Amino acid sequence: MSVEEMQGIVDEWIREIGKGYFPPLANMAILTEEVGELARVIVRQYGPQVAKASDMDRNLEEELADVLWVVVCLANQTGVDLTEAFRKTLLKKTNRDSNRFKNPISSSPEG
Ligand SMILES: [Mg+2]
Repeated sequence: MSVEEMQGIVDEWIREIGKGYFPPLANMAILTEEVGELARVIVRQYGPQVAKASDMDRNLEEELADVLWVVVCLANQTGVDLTEAFRKTLLKKTNRDSNRFKNPISSSPEG
């Protein structure tokens, strides 16, 4: 599935099943909530936190997809073509960072 197809599928779902998009500010809050759920899974899987019984029904794959869903909703309702936006981000990062990791510069004051 391409990103363009994903945007179309989400748009169709929202219009037919969801009965419309939440306002962008509501989706921003939902995105924040979903990022928190993702953080909860990661800190328990890769960090020091210990999972509770209520955490057992959450998994990394599901939470990453939940975050992606809301990002796609925000893009759709604000007219962002994520394929084109991603191309621009890739170009920006390549131009900015093409030598960054080959010749690391110390960030310490002593240099
Ligand atoms: Mg979630």
